[in-house]
Amino acid sequence: MGISEKTRKILWIQAGGFCSICKEQVITLGTASDDPSVFGEEAHIVARSEGGPRAGGLADEFLNHHTNLILLCSKDHKRIDDQPNHFTVERLRKIKSEHEAWVRSLARGDGNRLRLVPDPLFPQPKVLKLITRGNPLWNMLKESVTFEYALPDHLNDDDEDLIIEFMDLLRDYLDITGELVSARENRDAEKTIQQYISRLAEREFLVGAFVRHMLLTGGSAEEPTPWPMLRVEVQIATLAEVADENGTPYPPKAGI
Ligand SMILES: [Zn+2]
Repeated sequence: MGISEKTRKILWIQAGGFCSICKEQVITLGTASDDPSVFGEEAHIVARSEGGPRAGGLADEFLNHHTNLILLCSKDHKRIDDQPNHFTVERLRKIKSEHEAWVRSLARGDGNRLRLVPDPLFPQPKVLKLITRGNPLWNMLKESVTFEYALPDHLNDDDEDLIIEFMDLLRDYLDITGELVSARENRDAEKTIQQYISRLAEREFLVGAFVRHMLLTGGSAEEPTPWPMLRVEVQIATLAEVADENGTPYPPKAGI
């Protein structure tokens, strides 16, 4: 008894017409004069022939059942037969079930995972904005949903402690920006940030920041969610390069 027409349909639909290993669609494009070429093959997980790769002595009705078949491209079919030590029955069953779950997720459209993409409505910052006062950084914090930072390598412990303290402060503020509604609270936050910027400046550090406007898309949400990300960097003043908003060094070098 061969593989029935019904079994074949079940297998091909569950596999989505893709090779379960390389995920390639197992059909070529047609041409003006030729039909597409099909190079998908229904491979046995527990093999049919005694002594063949993955032979297991299954009765015919189980051998040719869709649960014992896996859709593969011709290349991967040869590969699993040539490499039975790697492609064991167990491994093939796992490949099959993961592949079919992947196909179902594609069909549901949730192969469209949550991801962050640049918001086309905002220009993407090329350079950090030099921050010398508390107010602009506080405003950037208030409009952001996440925060990341960078600090120089090879700092002495005191400097590193101060910078980390500053970053921790910013992170704490980010969590509570929505709760600080009064002008007084906002002003105090600005002042606290200002104090750190001044202390860092005394030690010859500059603070730079930008907000990258991203969109959170995918998942079950219909509309992308704005996802502004604040990046703050502390740099050693003597090593920092100052540039205009387009990234052109400032002041312009003589002769340019
Ligand atoms: Zn393949």
